[in-house]
Amino acid sequence: MKITDIKTAVIKGNFEWIIVKIYTDEGITGIGEAYWGAGVKEIIHHLKGILVGQDPFNVDFLFQRMMYRMSGAGSIAGATVTAISGVEIALWDVVGKALNTPVYNLFGGKFRDKIRIYADCGVEDDPRVCADKAQEVKAMGYTALKFDTYVPAVYQLDTHNRCLSTGAIRHIAKTVEALRQAVGEEIDLCLDCHWQYSTKDAIRLANALEEYNLLWLEDPTPPENIDALAKVAAFTNTPICTGENLYTKHGFRDLIQKQAADIVAPDIPKVGGLLESRRIADAADTYYIPMAPHNVSSPIGTMAAAHVCASIPNFLVMEFHSLGIPWWNDLVEGGGPVIKDGYITVPDKPGIGVELNEEVARQHLKGGETLFE
Ligand code: MG
Repeated sequence: MKITDIKTAVIKGNFEWIIVKIYTDEGITGIGEAYWGAGVKEIIHHLKGILVGQDPFNVDFLFQRMMYRMSGAGSIAGATVTAISGVEIALWDVVGKALNTPVYNLFGGKFRDKIRIYADCGVEDDPRVCADKAQEVKAMGYTALKFDTYVPAVYQLDTHNRCLSTGAIRHIAKTVEALRQAVGEEIDLCLDCHWQYSTKDAIRLANALEEYNLLWLEDPTPPENIDALAKVAAFTNTPICTGENLYTKHGFRDLIQKQAADIVAPDIPKVGGLLESRRIADAADTYYIPMAPHNVSSPIGTMAAAHVCASIPNFLVMEFHSLGIPWWNDLVEGGGPVIKDGYITVPDKPGIGVELNEEVARQHLKGGETLFE
C-alpha cells in the first residue's frame, strides 16, 4: 500500500478542529485530527512531500522521518509536532482499516471498554453560579468536572506579579466549597489555574484546597519550569496535574523523573499522536503516575485518543471541552452520541471507528476553507 495524498478540512468549533485525511492507492482512507494553532494546516500540507509514495503501515518510521526532516523547522515542539500528530493519527486509522481491527488492538489491546470523561465547565465569577452549573453538568451523567480559577478584581491588586492575596485564595476556596456541597463526595472536582501563580502562592492555594479533596489542581505555576512545579507538588497533598503544553516523550522526561506532577495530561493530537502518547503513559507508569489527557478536539481527535486511553493501564479520565457545541456529537457518523452519560464506549469498528459526517462538517467549515479539496 502507498500513500497517494493528504488533505485537510478546518472546522470552526469552540476551537479550530484541523481534520486530516490520508488517501492510499488501495482506496482506503484514514482520518485524523491535529490540535489548533497558526501554521498547523500549512505544515500538514508541507508534510505531503515526505509521505506520498510511502507505505502507511510504517507509522513509527514515518513519524521519525517527519520529525527528522522537519527538525530545522522546529520539530522539538510547537506547530510542527502538532501537524505531525494529526498525520500520525490518520495513519493509524488507515492501518486499522487495512487490518480490519480497531486501533486499540495495535497498542496492545484494551484495559477497559468505556473511557471516563470529565467535563470542562469553564469559568464563572460567582461561587453560586459555579455550583448551579456543576449540578447541571452532573445531571448529564458526568462523574468528574473541571472549573477554572477566578479571582474578583477586588482581590487582584497586581495582574503581573503572579501573587495570590489571602482574599483571592479564600474566594477560590469558597468556590470549591460551594462546588463540593453542590455535587457531593461522589463527583470528582478539578481546578485549572492556567499557569498563573507564583510557586509560594500555588502552595498556599493547594494547601487551602486540601480539605475539599480535589482530583487535581492543574497548572498552578508557569509551564516552563519543572523544578518550581516539583516544589508545589512536594509541599501539598492536593494532586498536581500538568502536561498540555509539553511535546513528545522528551518533553515529559524531566517532569516524570522529578515526579513534578501527580498526574500527566498530554494533549494527544498535539503531543506527537497516539504511539507517542502511549510511550508517555508507559514512562509515567514507571513512577505509578496516572494519565488524564487534555482534550479540546472534535469527536475525531477525541475518539482517536480514546483508543490510547483504552490501551494503557494508568488511564484516569479524559477531558471534554465542548459543552457549548450542541452539534459536537453530530460531526461523526455512527451509532448514537460519542459521549453518553459521561463515558465513551470504545468502538470495535476498524481504525478509530468513526467517520466525519461531511454534511455537518460542511455547515461548520471555517471561512475560506474547503472539505478535503
Ligand atoms: Mg488546562
